[in-house]
Amino acid sequence: MPTTDVAVVGGGIVGTCAAIELQRRGRAVTIVERNEPGAGTAAGSAGYLAYDDIFPIPSPAIVAGLPRMLFDRNGPLVVQTTYLPHLAGWGLRFIAAARPSVIRRSIAALAPMNRLASKAHEDLAARAGAQRYLVRESVFHVFRTEASLETASKLIPTLEREGFDVTVMDRDTLQALEPAIRNGVAGAISFPNSHRCTSPGRYGAALAEYFRGQGGSVIRGNAQALEAFGGGWIVRADGEELLAPRVVVATGAWSRALLAPLGYTVPLESARGYNLMLAEPGVAPSRTLLFEEDHFCATPMEEGLRLAGTVEFAGLEAPPNFYRSDMLYDIARGYLPDLQRDPATRWMGHRPSLPDSLPVIGELPQHPGIIAAFGHERRGLMQSAVTAQCVADLVERKPPPIDLAPFRIDRF
Ligand SMILES: Cc1cc2nc3c(=O)[nH]c(=O)nc-3n(C[C@H](O)[C@H](O)[C@H](O)COP(=O)(O)OP(=O)(O)OC[C@H]3O[C@@H](n4cnc5c(N)ncnc54)[C@H](O)[C@@H]3O)c2cc1C
Repeated sequence: MPTTDVAVVGGGIVGTCAAIELQRRGRAVTIVERNEPGAGTAAGSAGYLAYDDIFPIPSPAIVAGLPRMLFDRNGPLVVQTTYLPHLAGWGLRFIAAARPSVIRRSIAALAPMNRLASKAHEDLAARAGAQRYLVRESVFHVFRTEASLETASKLIPTLEREGFDVTVMDRDTLQALEPAIRNGVAGAISFPNSHRCTSPGRYGAALAEYFRGQGGSVIRGNAQALEAFGGGWIVRADGEELLAPRVVVATGAWSRALLAPLGYTVPLESARGYNLMLAEPGVAPSRTLLFEEDHFCATPMEEGLRLAGTVEFAGLEAPPNFYRSDMLYDIARGYLPDLQRDPATRWMGHRPSLPDSLPVIGELPQHPGIIAAFGHERRGLMQSAVTAQCVADLVERKPPPIDLAPFRIDRF
C-alpha cells in the first residue's frame, strides 16, 4: 500500500496551502482530491482578503431581520423551502451564536487569526512565485444610506482596538476615487491594508503547480473513508488506498460526510454563493467594492469584473439557481449605471459554514493523527495560509501561532 507522511484530503485553497506548508517543513505530502487541486470554491470567490472581517455573521440585528430576509427572492439570503427542515438544528445554533457574549468570543478568536493572515499569504505567494495574483490595496465598503454607514461606523472602535486601520469617507470623496459609482450612495468605509486576488482560480492553480513541482503527490479520487491501521490511517478513495500517520481533512462543505462515520456530528452547512463574471464590464473600478446593504462585492480581476456574493441554503445536491447570479447584475447596475453585462459567465459554490462563523481547526479529540481544517465560510481564501501554519504545527506537535480552543470540533 502506498504511504506518505501526511495525506491531505481535499485540495481546495485550505488543503493546498496546508500541503505546501507541510512540504516546506520537510514532510512528504499527498493530496487526495476528486477534482483538480487548487480549483475548489475559492476559484469562484470574490477575491477579497478581508483581514478586517472579524465579525461573525450571527448578530441580534441579523436574527431580527431573518423572517423578512429569508423569503425575499431577491434578498441577499434565501432558503430553499424544501431544505428548511434540514436547516432547523443549524438555525437554532445560529440564533444561539447571536448572543453578545458569543459574538465577543468569536471576535476574540477571529482577530488574532486575521492579523497573521496577511503575512502568511504574502510569504506563501512569494515562495510559490505567485505574488502577481495578490495586490495590496484598500477595499471600500460602500453604503447606500447614511443610517447603515452610521451603524457600521459603531464597529470602528472594535476594529481599531484589534489593530485594523479604517477610514470613513463621504460620498464626494468616494465618487472622486471611484467615478464609476454614480448612483445613490452615502459614503464608504475604507480598509487600507487588504489584499485583492487578481485571479483566485489562477492563484489556486499556481499554488497547486508549485506543490507538484516540489515533489508533492496527488491522488485523483473521492475519499470515502478513513480507517485506523497500525497507529496511522488508511484513506480509501475510489479503490485506491493510502497509508499515513497524519491525515488533514480539508474537504470544505463536504467534511461532515467524511467525519460522521468516526462519530462527529458537525453542524456544517453549505452557504451557497454565486458569481457573475463580466468579461467586458464597461466600467473599471480600481479596487474591490463591497456593497454592504446588498451583500456582494465587485472585484476587478484578470478575467474581467466579478460580481460575487449572496447566500442560499439549499444543501450540497440541489442544482444551482442561476437567477442568483443574474440578479447580481441588476443590483450592481443600481450603483454602477454604465455596467455592461455580456459576455458573462455564471457560477455557484459552497461556502463551508458553521453556525458561529468560526472554522474547525484542530486534531480530532478521539482520533489522534487526524487534523480537521474546514468551515472557513466567507473567509477561506483569506484565512487559508494562516490555517496552513496551524495545521503544520499540529502535525509537528508544536504550539500553533494562535489559540485554537475556539475552533474545536466539539464546541457545539
Ligand atoms: C460567492 C463566494 C464568494 C467568496 N468570496 C470570498 C472572498 O472574497 N474572500 C475569502 O476569503 N473567501 C471567500 N469565499 C469563501 C471561500 O471561497 C471558501 O471559504 C474557501 O474556498 C473554502 O476553502 P476550502 O479549501 O475549505 O474548501 P473548498 O474550496 O470547497 O475545497 C474542498 C475541496 O475538497 C474536495 N473534496 C470534497 N470532498 C472530497 C472527498 N470526499 N474526497 C476528495 N476530495 C473531496 C472538493 O472537490 C474541493 O476541491 C467566497 C465563497 C463564495 C461561494
